[in-house]
Amino acid sequence: MAPLHSLISRFMRSLVMKFTFMTAVLMIATATFLMVIENRFDQRANEATLVERAGLKAQILALNISDDILADDTSRLQSRVSSLVERADVTQAFIADARRRMLVHSDPVGMVESGLAADPLVVMALGSGETRSETTNNTVRVAAPVYSAANRLVGVVYTESPMDELRAAAGIAMRRHMLTATIAMLIFLPIAAGLIFWSLRPIASLTDAARTASSKTLDVRINVKTGDELEVLANAFNRMLSRIDSNLKRIHRLAYVDMVTELPNRERFRKEVERVTQKAVEEDTAGAVLFLDLDRFKRVNDSLGIEEGDRLLEMVARRLREAARGHDLAMGGAGEPSMVARLGGDEFTLLVPGIDDSAEIARYAQMIISALARPFDVSGHQVFLGASIGIAVFPQDGAEPESLLRHADLAMAHAKESGGNAAHFFEPSMNQSAFERLVLENELRDAVKENQLVVFYQPKVRMTDGIVASSEALVRWNHPTSGLLSPGHFIDAAEESGLIGEIGDWVMRNACAQAAEWASHGLVLPVAVNVSAMQFESPDFADSVLEILEQTGLAPELLEIELTESIAMRDPQRVIDQVQPLRDRGVKFAIDDFGTGHSSLSYLTRMPFDVFKIDQSFVRSMAEDPHSRAVVETILALAKALKLKTVAEGVETTEQLTALREEGATLAQGYLFSKPVPAADFEAYARAILEDEERAASA
Ligand code: C2E
Ligand code: CA
Ligand code: CA
Repeated sequence: MAPLHSLISRFMRSLVMKFTFMTAVLMIATATFLMVIENRFDQRANEATLVERAGLKAQILALNISDDILADDTSRLQSRVSSLVERADVTQAFIADARRRMLVHSDPVGMVESGLAADPLVVMALGSGETRSETTNNTVRVAAPVYSAANRLVGVVYTESPMDELRAAAGIAMRRHMLTATIAMLIFLPIAAGLIFWSLRPIASLTDAARTASSKTLDVRINVKTGDELEVLANAFNRMLSRIDSNLKRIHRLAYVDMVTELPNRERFRKEVERVTQKAVEEDTAGAVLFLDLDRFKRVNDSLGIEEGDRLLEMVARRLREAARGHDLAMGGAGEPSMVARLGGDEFTLLVPGIDDSAEIARYAQMIISALARPFDVSGHQVFLGASIGIAVFPQDGAEPESLLRHADLAMAHAKESGGNAAHFFEPSMNQSAFERLVLENELRDAVKENQLVVFYQPKVRMTDGIVASSEALVRWNHPTSGLLSPGHFIDAAEESGLIGEIGDWVMRNACAQAAEWASHGLVLPVAVNVSAMQFESPDFADSVLEILEQTGLAPELLEIELTESIAMRDPQRVIDQVQPLRDRGVKFAIDDFGTGHSSLSYLTRMPFDVFKIDQSFVRSMAEDPHSRAVVETILALAKALKLKTVAEGVETTEQLTALREEGATLAQGYLFSKPVPAADFEAYARAILEDEERAASA
């Protein structure tokens, strides 16, 4: 009953009701006003008629009684007066002679009281010889003179008539008026209500529209064509709604759509995952979240520029969308569609509801990888990207967006570590290693601050005479609980946490300062410093190296920078640009781990390097593996042709040394001569060999 009640109460408080009520009040007021006026006029007219009628009665009597007065026939006069009074409209009457002597009276008491009629009206009638009348206290009093046949004033007739008749007539008139007014109200009030309702209809539609707009959709428009203020109001309302609507859509786009690719953004994806996982829990179904990171995108972005990079992301988005839609259609279009989103940078995510068989999920991921494996055409350049995908399955790997995304991200990192262009499922053990990584990163931060890092030096020895020709600086971490850690334990973490910049700078500064100090004591030996990808690719790399050289006072020719083959391969033009300003000053460059990156020869001949460092894996297997031996031979032949120096790494046995010497390698580095050692040990080692040599020479 509550809705009916509220409906009624709303109707009672509606504008139509208020206006109708006001109209009713106005109608009643008008009718009352008219009735009062009408009544007044009626009363006046009735009164005049009554007075006239009373006067006529008295005059008619006066005409007929002059003889009786002259004859002093009181009994006849008495009967005339009585018959007059018997009629209801005269209450009192008397007849007096010309000298005002009372002759007869309708009321015997009045007769007795005074012999003379002293009423002023009587006096006036006799004095003027004309009929006089007066109304007082609801009574009409009349005094009419009586003339004889000879036209002589012989007496006077006095009557009093009540005006009850008048009041009765007024009452009747009033009742009639009221009846008319009521009938008029009954007829016209509904008509007025109808008219009011009709003219207020635009307001009703405005109200309805406002209500819909506030609770349901802004997609409402009001059609009011009244030509009055309401139409102006309705049009303004429509404009306002459409502006709010478009603003809201804009806000929604900004909040939920990635502007570069037009894909849903992180927030939108998160919401969708939330909805789908909830539904999956309720309906006992499953699905997968894929976390995708493009391989090699950063390099492409750096070399093509941001604008082209964005275009490339757009193309990637399109392929992802097409692949996802293709899968949805293949599934028969039933069930929830998949969603592709961009988290930012080169990271994308896919939500695949209703998929639970892990073989099928793996096929899905493989389909996505193949879709991105085809080359992209960016302003005429063929660009090859790959993708690393991490897969988290719900509900088993998590039931809410955060954990699913985190787990898929972890799995993606594993896919990337194993070389990229692959998909990995999340495994609970990944959480543990991620945790360890986190601890490691935090400790590494402290290590930098608290000077726990040290630089060790390993000699590079001349093949021909065994003299120490130069050194390589290798960083160590003097961990407070784990002891001395080699870079393999922390360089990756340093790269990922961005600490590598700081660490690399520190090593470079230390190594340069050390070499400068040795040189000042007569031990003039070049020092080689390893530089990571991130460090090398930073735009102010060359400047910071030059600044360190200047501050430490090391001659640029005594610094050799080692870049791994994979860094050197990434982006030729960029490498040349970064290397050239330093090479111009005399800094040397070496390709580290050479042979592992399958570089093309034509590419290498164009690169500005001074030294090839043959990777230790070839040196180690040279003796038993003819293929390794062939690789070493080729590298050495190539170096000879390009007039480059070569360093053979990881030389542990004299057999290896002999073999390398036969092939014509320039320098050797390895445990056969010395492990990496602290600076003081290195200095002692180098000086001892030099002194041996000098002694031999002088002997
Ligand atoms: P790398 O540049 O190839 O350095 C040579 C590695 O081989 C060193 O390992 C060295 O101790 C080891 N080694 C030398 N001779 C022998 C041998 O005869 N037998 C064997 N089995 N190993 C030998 P380390 O010091 O653990 O460094 C590992 C890698 O860490 C380095 O490989 C280098 O890529 C990186 N690294 C070291 N210091 C730095 C640094 O200051 N900055 C950067 N970015 N990376 C560094
Ligand atoms: Ca190295
Ligand atoms: Ca190496």
